[in-house]
Amino acid sequence: MPRTKFVLIGSGLAGGLLAAYLGRRGYDVDLYERRADPREGNIVGGRSINLAISTRGIHALEEIGIADEALQHAIPMRGRMIHPAGAGARIIFSPYDVDPKKCINSIGRAALNTTVIEAAQRYSNVRVYFNHKCTDVDLDSATAHFVPSAVEAAVSAANPGVIEARGDAVIGVDGAFSAVRQSMQLKIGKFQYDESYLAHGYKELTIPPGPGGAWRMEKNALHIWPRKSFMMIALPNPDGSFTCTLFWQFEGPRSFATTQSDDDVRRFFGEEFPDAVPLMPTLLEDFRQNPTGSLVTIRCSPWFYRDKVCLLGDAAHAVVPFYGQGMNAAFEDCVVLDECLEKFPENRERAFAEYFSRRKENADALADLAIGNFIEMRDKTASKTFRAKKKLDHLLEAALPGIYLPLYTMVTFTRIPYAQAAQRGRLQDRIVYAALIAAVIIIVSLLIYFIAR
Ligand SMILES: Cc1cc2nc3c(=O)[nH]c(=O)nc-3n(C[C@H](O)[C@H](O)[C@H](O)COP(=O)(O)OP(=O)(O)OC[C@H]3O[C@@H](n4cnc5c(N)ncnc54)[C@H](O)[C@@H]3O)c2cc1C
Repeated sequence: MPRTKFVLIGSGLAGGLLAAYLGRRGYDVDLYERRADPREGNIVGGRSINLAISTRGIHALEEIGIADEALQHAIPMRGRMIHPAGAGARIIFSPYDVDPKKCINSIGRAALNTTVIEAAQRYSNVRVYFNHKCTDVDLDSATAHFVPSAVEAAVSAANPGVIEARGDAVIGVDGAFSAVRQSMQLKIGKFQYDESYLAHGYKELTIPPGPGGAWRMEKNALHIWPRKSFMMIALPNPDGSFTCTLFWQFEGPRSFATTQSDDDVRRFFGEEFPDAVPLMPTLLEDFRQNPTGSLVTIRCSPWFYRDKVCLLGDAAHAVVPFYGQGMNAAFEDCVVLDECLEKFPENRERAFAEYFSRRKENADALADLAIGNFIEMRDKTASKTFRAKKKLDHLLEAALPGIYLPLYTMVTFTRIPYAQAAQRGRLQDRIVYAALIAAVIIIVSLLIYFIAR
């Protein structure tokens, strides 16, 4: 009997990893990517240069045996290094967890992408085709159509221009603007789709290495400059540099739209990030040349069509990046889909349905958490109340091990499903606030009692 064949669209972070999982399970896998091979120096433009990988993502890499390989150049970040506003303000370190060993890891997108693709290619039943842009998918026949990139077409005169690939199933791992999802939207009558953009965009900037490749700020931390309605963050890279990302309104009196000239940029950064400016010699060029990206949340349903088509990663559930979980969640999808295919080896539609039902509410919960964390990062991290709450969280976590887990810990350092983590976090907060109010009432009552005696 011929082997089941999967056609995968998109060899980004999740596409490469999923191809490895499916390859290991013995399926035939053809993976198509619109860009050139990242190993040929193709820079993954338009998305972050580095990103934070944590427990869920690492678990998915461990399960396929490539965690050490992927993490060899990652830089552990043990907490947030907060740079408050105002010249000379004291920089404050806020650990992520009561356990100093718990950290998130800054990893280069290109290096991670290469690692997962190479892991997939170790299976002889996995083939990868770069420079193939999917235009649409015929859902009923599980056939994807492609336009080869201009480069590919130019080198091969025999290239017919449009290629098609037929499988037993097509999986769309083609990111937030998925062509596979668009074909589902056109074909499935009751397909639900919602996309919402933040009023903020992002721009990447650089802090180059110091002399001898030294890091010019604390290396093992995620740096944040919270400024209420906007913020800048910086993640370390192995070469001693930091990649900074400015999250700022597109429009408004002070915004990307109104900050055009070099003088505007110099003034804005001088006012808001005075300690960073001396570390950013290429600020003006970076600001001028680097694109301003948008931040989208995508929710859709269903994520599958019969036993023919399925969505995974950002194609199914793009989230804004403020919990550092988009890729972690996409990697977790790979683990869950693999488990479902194992559970229903003869019934792919049931496998897809179970995968969808296990992941959908969690993806929705993550979308909400990610937006909530934007407000926390840009608005609250600099406040004393927020830091006191974090300390209380850590005290309770240490005093009640296994019973009290801060929300951030559950999302980042456990594999508790996102929806469950969000629900438990809300309940814990209610109990803690009720206990604090009760304590205040008791103390005030006792004071009144003793004063009145
Ligand atoms: C600024 C920023 C910072 C982020 N930081 C973090 C972080 O710290 N931690 C974290 O976990 N997540 C982070 N994320 C989210 C993370 O980048 C995504 O969740 C992750 O890349 C999703 O992986 P994916 O494989 O589903 O999609 P992608 O990585 O987007 O890959 C999709 C692939 O499909 C290809 N493709 C697209 N269309 C087609 C087509 N028509 N035909 C063929 N190929 C196609 C693309 O070229 C790409 O290679 C961040 C995102 C942004 C924007």
